Amino acid sequence: MPKTGPGKRRRYVVSQAKLARLRERLISEATDRLSQPRAFMSFVGVAEADELLNDIKGHPHAFVIACIMDRQMSAQKAWRIPYELKQRIGSFRFPRLAELSLEQLERVMAQPEPLHRFPKVMSRNLYAAIRRIERQYRGNAAEIWTGRPSSATIVRRFLEFDGVGQKIATMAANTLVRDFRIPVSDRYSIDISVDIQIRRVFARMGFVPEDASTEYIIYRARELHPEYPGIFDLVLWELGRTVCRPRRPACDDCQWRELCAHANRKGAH
Ligand code: SF4
Repeated sequence: MPKTGPGKRRRYVVSQAKLARLRERLISEATDRLSQPRAFMSFVGVAEADELLNDIKGHPHAFVIACIMDRQMSAQKAWRIPYELKQRIGSFRFPRLAELSLEQLERVMAQPEPLHRFPKVMSRNLYAAIRRIERQYRGNAAEIWTGRPSSATIVRRFLEFDGVGQKIATMAANTLVRDFRIPVSDRYSIDISVDIQIRRVFARMGFVPEDASTEYIIYRARELHPEYPGIFDLVLWELGRTVCRPRRPACDDCQWRELCAHANRKGAH
């Protein structure tokens, strides 16, 4: 049986009233960001690679392929792969990709040096993705999210690609909705994408125990904001990458310190 609940490790405690205010403020901050104009996104910090990924209209398959590559290696390297493939192939237009055989894709993925930790498997997944986009979406990956589909439809369509699991499918849907502002009919199925940053910040704030399972954290986010559980993703992740570091979180500089369980624990001051 998979572990689904909290174990015996520490839980930072804060009053229910503070937790409710923290929830409201997190949702409010994330909602404010959604109302701002769409910005150019830095996926990997390399201008040409980011331009390709941001070109969701001209190269929607670049975004899909980056999602497929995003496993068992650093996200930054994985999201660079569409650009590296473009350099090796000479184009990243979909008709050009669709011309390549599996053997040719295996070669460009592996030489002169492997683009992924598992070039063989990822070449097969890439080949299968190209066939699916060609067959199911008539060569236009944007059809995955065109026509104001439900969030469940987008997540399910990503899950159909070989190698894509729930975490990546949810992250893809959240990025499309939150960052690319793709219209959808609802956001119920956009879960939080649990990673080390989100796990740490959510626990310190007092929403979950320190050793909560991934499933527990997902359901906690659903409980906190059923209409859009993944709304917490970016705010928590950015906090974990900047102020709320694993050792010595900079609570004095943190906007959430008044309400945060970790900052208000006994002996913290
Ligand atoms: S107050 Fe401190 S522990 Fe709480 S979220 Fe901010 S940095 Fe993290």
